Amino acid sequence: MPIQSFCFNPIQVNSYLLWDDDLNALIIDPGCYTDKEKSTLQEFIQNNKLVLRTILNTHLHFDHILGNNFVEKTYSVGSQAHKDDLFLLNQLPLHARLFGVTAQEICEPPATLLEDGATVHCGNISLRVVHAPGHSPGSLAYYSENENCLFSGDVLFKGSVGRSDLQGGNGTILASSLQHLMKLPDDTKVYPGHGPQTSIGYEKAHNPFL
Ligand SMILES: [Zn+2]
Ligand SMILES: [Zn+2]
Repeated sequence: MPIQSFCFNPIQVNSYLLWDDDLNALIIDPGCYTDKEKSTLQEFIQNNKLVLRTILNTHLHFDHILGNNFVEKTYSVGSQAHKDDLFLLNQLPLHARLFGVTAQEICEPPATLLEDGATVHCGNISLRVVHAPGHSPGSLAYYSENENCLFSGDVLFKGSVGRSDLQGGNGTILASSLQHLMKLPDDTKVYPGHGPQTSIGYEKAHNPFL
């Protein structure tokens, strides 16, 4: 399964585009913000003849959903997220402003609400939904057993973990979500919401916050 990552918007969110052999594609956290970022994404999809089927959000902090409306309109797709983060949608313009980002539009609500243990299918791609609250109440990680990889959103980073001091965050709950993720095989590749790729084994050995 090819994975293309993009680093978008002033908060430098990683957006991941995944596709199968038949070119069915999905995007995790489309953070594209500027016109240039939007056309970078669009050109990549076009040049690789991908058919974008859906948007998966790891959580609904503004930096991870800045490009949701654009992708939804451009490709006529809906997004998927956990219900416990819906309260964040209305706060997008305010939160963006606190970080110096102008975003007037409120993000459209997810078309599909995901629960822990569900499986998302897109062509031949299957991702298991893992509810991993603590950074935000509705934080999700997406796990592919076949591809041996985890999209960890803002729960787990290389050498660090998500903050738990934002609205709805909880350090104790975050710690237990992280312990849950650490049960995955050591060689699981981890694609976080910010910063470089890592692995479960590397984090077990080196992450001072675990
Ligand atoms: Zn976040
Ligand atoms: Zn983030």
